Amino acid sequence: MSLLISNIGSLVTNDPALGTGPLGLLADAAVVVDGATVAWVGPSAAAPAADEALDAAGRALLPGFVDSHSHLVFAGDRTAEFNARMSGRAYGAGGIRTTVAATRAASDAELNANLTRYLAEMLRQGTTTAEVKSGYGLSTEDEARSLRIAAGHTEETTYLGAHVVAPEYADDPAGYVDLVTGAMLDACAPYARWVDVFCERGAFDGDQARAVLTAGAARGLLPRVHANQLGHGPGVRLAVELGAASADHCTHLTDADVAALAGSDTVATLLPGAEFSTRAPYPDARRLLDAGARVALSTDCNPGSSFTSSMPFCVAVAVREMGMTPDEAVHAATAGGALALRRTDVGRIAPGARADLHLLDAPSHVHLAYRPGVPLTAVVWQGGVRRA
Ligand SMILES: [Zn+2]
Repeated sequence: MSLLISNIGSLVTNDPALGTGPLGLLADAAVVVDGATVAWVGPSAAAPAADEALDAAGRALLPGFVDSHSHLVFAGDRTAEFNARMSGRAYGAGGIRTTVAATRAASDAELNANLTRYLAEMLRQGTTTAEVKSGYGLSTEDEARSLRIAAGHTEETTYLGAHVVAPEYADDPAGYVDLVTGAMLDACAPYARWVDVFCERGAFDGDQARAVLTAGAARGLLPRVHANQLGHGPGVRLAVELGAASADHCTHLTDADVAALAGSDTVATLLPGAEFSTRAPYPDARRLLDAGARVALSTDCNPGSSFTSSMPFCVAVAVREMGMTPDEAVHAATAGGALALRRTDVGRIAPGARADLHLLDAPSHVHLAYRPGVPLTAVVWQGGVRRA
């Protein structure tokens, strides 16, 4: 079956060959979807016929959001911790262990139900591709089942055994790194595309992070790094050196870090939900963009430091607080996320791309920042199937 979406007031293609500017914007546009892929893009007046038709009535159509960083295999929540933090307590990585205990105690069915619920929440807000990490199991068995459950929902699965040192290894962090790079990796690699590490004071240092990423790469997993979130450190330059697809957070950067990102293929993935939810200073997107770095936006959805599944929220915060223009923020949340996952089939609307489409109840993508907190999603198609 083919579908013609006509009378699109403003179409974001993210293909400069199809329209104006980096967003490849087209006014009075139409899109034809054939099965799971985009078959045709052009002026509404020139659109070919299709089996079905939908009149967009002047509304905006953009690619589905690509959320390249989330931690959605978990149980329990951390309401009390958030409440305490908002009453003046500082955030430390130790809170992760609360979720580890709840996750280990949960059944597969409970973890799967939670993941299903949060992915559906994302979809209702326009997210059609979501990366999902492990990292709340921290044992061989619990990390492997976390990834097995995630792999049932997305091809973008990330092994994050190196989230924090497991409580059983509190006095033997080197022993834990041996586990993460050994038996745990062996059990997890079949279910993961990526390997990640929380390279931060209180989690894993530069040498440990390098060991985790190179061991993962030796098993065919592609590296990405939690880098420079809470302070300066070696994470960003390690990510660039190892050719990681993405360095995530990038909140505390030296000039050398910025230059390294700008001179590389490593995407700087900014996660403003984390700073929002921990009352921390935001990353400086303007500095990265002006230097020529490639930037993505993502939710970091997790029960501790960023319990939002909303890409529209991240776009609005990035524009208001991080120096991004609305065009840059929407690009980062779609094409940027695709780049951070090394995907060329999503994050754009062009012939041959996957038909992941997001119709807004608004005439322009700018409304995502202009109307913060307003549910603007009208229709979402994932692989050509109407899902929300
Ligand atoms: Zn994260």
